[in-house]
Amino acid sequence: MIFSETVRRYERLCEENDVPAETVMAYLVELSQRERYDLYVHFEEDMPAELADEFEKGMKRILNQEPMSHVLGYSWFYGYKMEVNPDVLIPRVETEELCAQILARMDEIFPDRDEIVTADVGTGSGAIAITVKLEEPKVTMTATDISEEALAVAKRNAAVNGADVEFLCGDMVKPLIEAGKKLDVLISNPPYIPREEQMERSVVDFEPHVALFGGEDGLKFYRQIFRDCRQVLKEKAFMAFEMGWDQREAMSALVESSLPEANYEILKDMNGKDRMLFVYFGCGNEEVCG
Ligand code: GLN
Repeated sequence: MIFSETVRRYERLCEENDVPAETVMAYLVELSQRERYDLYVHFEEDMPAELADEFEKGMKRILNQEPMSHVLGYSWFYGYKMEVNPDVLIPRVETEELCAQILARMDEIFPDRDEIVTADVGTGSGAIAITVKLEEPKVTMTATDISEEALAVAKRNAAVNGADVEFLCGDMVKPLIEAGKKLDVLISNPPYIPREEQMERSVVDFEPHVALFGGEDGLKFYRQIFRDCRQVLKEKAFMAFEMGWDQREAMSALVESSLPEANYEILKDMNGKDRMLFVYFGCGNEEVCG
């Protein structure tokens, strides 16, 4: 079978099955370990039999709405290869933006520190914790999750990527309280989808609901963290969260009522959607105190 014919055939099948057609080339690039331009240069040549075979098997699963990252067994995040499986949420591009914003805030707020004590609550695959640790060596990172299965994946990801991260099993900030942590930075991308929300099959049927759904209004886990965070934060500290694009008003009201002493800002992602919440204690994002 010739590359071009195979790709076109599967692109048509994707369209018929409500799967984005770009998935075909993205999958082929990963599977063949070849650059896109290299594939195009040889597009009218025969596909090696072994590759064709594996490609067809994988595409069958993808056409059945299974996420490409599950078929491959990994996903790329901030340039790092992260193992994923149905026990963890597949890291999203929006979450890479969250990491970049966190790293920028760390430079602004703690420019002269030798150590920035940080925790990632509900770490899942470990993508955020590992990335922030690797990109900012001054960070000491603790990552928590309630799921032992997720922590097993996160530990493998930390080991493979050479990131020194401490992992604790438990519910939200509880293991941090028990371990007596005092943090400069608390990060979380908690489950924030409201219970009733309609979602794509590729997400609902294949990704862990424990990582997706945040109670009736999606805010359950923010409420818990806002209630408990003072027990684990230093006086000067910040918190960084991912949030749902339609949660600005509810989130603002929640921060203002539960953390009246804090400053906060909500940032948009590259699609112009409200996506990140930063909460500052004893410091602002521009005016750095202390
Ligand atoms: N952004 C994810 C989605 O839309 C949800 C992530 C989360 O709940 N933390 O599928």
